[in-house]
Amino acid sequence: MSQHTDVLEMARRQLAVAAEYLELDAGLHEVLSRPQRALIVRFPVVLDSGEVQVFEGYRVQHNSARGPTKGGIRFHPDVDLDETSALAMWMTWKCAVANIPYGGAKGSVRVDTKQLSKRELEKLTRRYITEINVMVGERSDIPAPDIGTNAQVMAWIMDTLSMQAGYTMPGVVTGKPIELGGSEGRVEATGRGVVVTAQEAAKTLGISLTGAKVIVQGFGNVGATAAKIIEEEGATVVGISDAIGGIYNPNGLPVRELFTRYAGREGGIREYKDAEQVTNEQLLELPCDVLIPAAIAAQITSENADKIKAKLIVEGANGPCTPDADNILSDKGVFVVPDILANAGGVVVSYFEWVQDLQNFFWEENEVNNRLERIMRNSYAAVEATMRSHKTDMRTAALIIGVKRVADATIRRGIFP
Ligand code: NAD
Repeated sequence: MSQHTDVLEMARRQLAVAAEYLELDAGLHEVLSRPQRALIVRFPVVLDSGEVQVFEGYRVQHNSARGPTKGGIRFHPDVDLDETSALAMWMTWKCAVANIPYGGAKGSVRVDTKQLSKRELEKLTRRYITEINVMVGERSDIPAPDIGTNAQVMAWIMDTLSMQAGYTMPGVVTGKPIELGGSEGRVEATGRGVVVTAQEAAKTLGISLTGAKVIVQGFGNVGATAAKIIEEEGATVVGISDAIGGIYNPNGLPVRELFTRYAGREGGIREYKDAEQVTNEQLLELPCDVLIPAAIAAQITSENADKIKAKLIVEGANGPCTPDADNILSDKGVFVVPDILANAGGVVVSYFEWVQDLQNFFWEENEVNNRLERIMRNSYAAVEATMRSHKTDMRTAALIIGVKRVADATIRRGIFP
């Protein structure tokens, strides 16, 4: 059994809950519980030493009823087909909740990028995208960054696919550098969206973000941006972690300094001395008002959910709370803004990037941020209204909206042939 069968099982359990609320047809439920297409690739890369190493990668398209599929590419040593399938399914619901015209996909390569030189990483990227070229395309399936990939990796993907097509194709991937057709605001988009939904949730709970104590797990693209923006909004970030471990200071941490001076260093943020060193497990259980898990899946489980002190959890990462944890948190009265709503900002601005690329007409950062905020606030309001009308939690409400939109599109299209 795969290491990530549980993550896929988690995604399927979530779908089953929504399907029951929607009284979804059994055949349609079956269609939505599995990917539409999945590809496993194994490919060689010549390392700098001259040695050949074989890597395994995946690309999964979960559902394309509402449009071309969209989803990030993850480079991480633990990925597998099941996890990639779960992430692709969540992308389908996320795009539907934000009401952008995409289906869901995800790609991954089982690799520890820390072991590769820049040249090796470039070769791996170019070969992987060539292997999955049969699936991707600016009108069919558009990749983006995820854990372990960034704007430079997206630039190599765009270049490789353009070389093979014989012309420059910026719309084939999003999260690119600005000078290659990337969008203003894309790098910060996910973290910005996380903070917008945190603001809306604070209103729902009748609390203020000003002066609120915040803990962020993960100090990469999503976690670091969310920490910076929530601090600008007047909150105090008291705990932060990365893969190595975390730091905590109840009086507050200097987020910008941690980002500029410590994040890229060998020992990471733990080299910052004016804070207590904690493990990732301890970090989640420390006192705070808002907890933002922004690293990897299954961090809050039946083992630790009872020990969470936050009133509000905003899921920057995909799948950080398991269904068992959800039940415990709900009993404790912890309000959870689910991943498919909270971290949708990334795919929303990826959508803006794609639209700009296809039109060769680029927007200013203010316009991107204003449109992003509008979509995030409207999506939050729709999910909150569904939560109240169905007397359920925010995750189930978001799934009800997402699954219903995909089901409606499928029924409208009809089953081919
Ligand atoms: P990233 O690679 O930029 O950062 C990941 C961070 O998590 C790093 O600080 C890393 O050190 C930390 N980390 C890794 N393993 C960890 C562990 N076991 N415990 C604690 N921390 C750990 O990735 P990212 O783009 O910021 O993505 C983070 C999460 O957000 C992922 O779940 C991703 O799927 C999700 N997400 C990302 C985007 C996006 O636009 N980048 C959009 C939506 C969702």
